[in-house]
Amino acid sequence: MDTQNKEVKLTNFIRNVINEDLASGKHTLIKTRFPPEPNGYLHIGHAKSICLNFGTAANYDGLCNLRFDDTNPTKENIEYVKSIKKDVEWLGFNWDSEVKFSSSYFDIFYKCAEELISKGLAYVCFLSNDETREYRGTLKKPGKNSPYRDTHIEENFKLFKKMKSGEFKEGECVLRAKIDMSSSFMCMRDPTLYRIRFETHHQTNDDWCIYPMYDFAHCLGDAIEGVTHSLCTLEFQDNRRIYDWTLENLDTFNTSHRPHQYEFSRLNLEYATTSKRKLKLLVDNNYVSSWNDPRMPTISGLRRRGYTAASIRDFCERIGVSKVNSLTDISILESSIRDDLNNIAPRSMAVINPIKLLIENYPEGKIESLKALIHPQKEEMGTREIFFSREIYIDKEDFLEESPNNKYKRLAINKEVRLRNSYVIKATHFDTDKDGNIKTIYCNYDSDTLGKNPSDGRKIKGVIHFVESSKAVRAEFRIYDRLFLDSNPSNFDDLSSSINPNSLEIKNGFVEPNLLNAKADRTYQFEREGYFCRDSESDELVFNKTVGLRDTSNQ
Ligand code: ATP
Ligand code: MG
Repeated sequence: MDTQNKEVKLTNFIRNVINEDLASGKHTLIKTRFPPEPNGYLHIGHAKSICLNFGTAANYDGLCNLRFDDTNPTKENIEYVKSIKKDVEWLGFNWDSEVKFSSSYFDIFYKCAEELISKGLAYVCFLSNDETREYRGTLKKPGKNSPYRDTHIEENFKLFKKMKSGEFKEGECVLRAKIDMSSSFMCMRDPTLYRIRFETHHQTNDDWCIYPMYDFAHCLGDAIEGVTHSLCTLEFQDNRRIYDWTLENLDTFNTSHRPHQYEFSRLNLEYATTSKRKLKLLVDNNYVSSWNDPRMPTISGLRRRGYTAASIRDFCERIGVSKVNSLTDISILESSIRDDLNNIAPRSMAVINPIKLLIENYPEGKIESLKALIHPQKEEMGTREIFFSREIYIDKEDFLEESPNNKYKRLAINKEVRLRNSYVIKATHFDTDKDGNIKTIYCNYDSDTLGKNPSDGRKIKGVIHFVESSKAVRAEFRIYDRLFLDSNPSNFDDLSSSINPNSLEIKNGFVEPNLLNAKADRTYQFEREGYFCRDSESDELVFNKTVGLRDTSNQ
């Protein structure tokens, strides 16, 4: 894959650590992991983490695991597992050997918990949720020791076994680490290691009714897999203490080459949310049609919208990695896709707001087959066949009865324009329906202007696009606007107040006949209109607008 040969732009703080670790001989092979929880579809924020983890490993000829952090069966399912694998692959990354699951280490986690109990470092606690909260204290007030904190080691062993064999009810007790109830880091105040959940797990079925917490499972998963650098987002900064504490207190893992956690800033993107919980609410409340609705900032939504994997990787390179949280300008993402598509997208003509145009001096019944370049700057991409006849469609927006000024470059009565890839025409008159709407525009064409300027030297300033009417194929166009009205919707806990009611506009028009077999994984440039790709979920000919031709956000 091309990014693997390219210099992956990494900020120095991660690169520096790795360079030092290689120089000191602490590590000889760099190993990272991407650890999604299968509780939703991946979004553009995950792409940042994927590019960072897989990119860093590739940059150092190392390895990167895909590990499902599947420790909470309540919210996870196999649909999410499948979609995540698909998205990572589509982005162009290969994980090392087979996919990993935290759940396949449940036996090891259990033994680790027993080791902590045996060392007097973990205990079974029967405080209720409310009591636990009260005992925990606050940032300003130290916590209090749980009355169960000094239960005898042998007793804790028995109680933990009972938890495992289902002898306690959900919520009745948890296993906690015995650390420090007065720590200034709240996560060190005897954090929960295991809780009871009578849920069927998508990988382990009903084998377990106790499930480890993230803080316990994550560092162990990393250590078991030989991860060297565990890259995660800044909100886990404090949790690095429990990460280290756990590994330092387990004999097998307390080694000089044990993994370490490094934090980087999350991607927050304008006009989008990168919270899986909130994205799920949008789906569940039908604000969008599905996780892969083209308005969603999910990888699958972007793919369906026509974004390429290369453009998403390029975006992740452009934004870089830092330790400062910020809101990323959506125009960076849009210019990544625009730059990619400008280079690779086949050109085509589509009329989105059709109006009929009749060329009165063109022979009746004649149809011409013309050749048009697939890409104007890349002749090697070849040509396509388009048609021309007496009757064509143009876009309503390309005609005005009267030219408003000298700068107007489209069609008007008594004004000439070039039809893209064909002749120069001049409008003579039009007729209207009973409501006064323009029905047909009448023109004459200059038969000596195919592929050349008029021989008398007159200049034709404007070019408009068209589709020949008898060969035109009907198509639906879905034109998207931002899903949210506010540039930072995470300011709102209730996202619905920021939803843009006009985020989808549907139009019916025509495309060139060669688009009848357009593939969903190919994005086209509809000349003068923007980039569009065929919708993968529709049987009919439906095109999603990926992005416009130019950034109009500042206009
Ligand atoms: P959410 O809060 O939406 O559920 P999460 O962080 O819990 O997100 P995970 O599935 O646990 O989602 O994420 C897998 C990896 O992706 C983690 O290492 C996480 O830090 C990273 N990640 C998640 N969201 C972002 C983001 N917006 N920017 C960068 N990395 C992210
Ligand atoms: Mg998470």
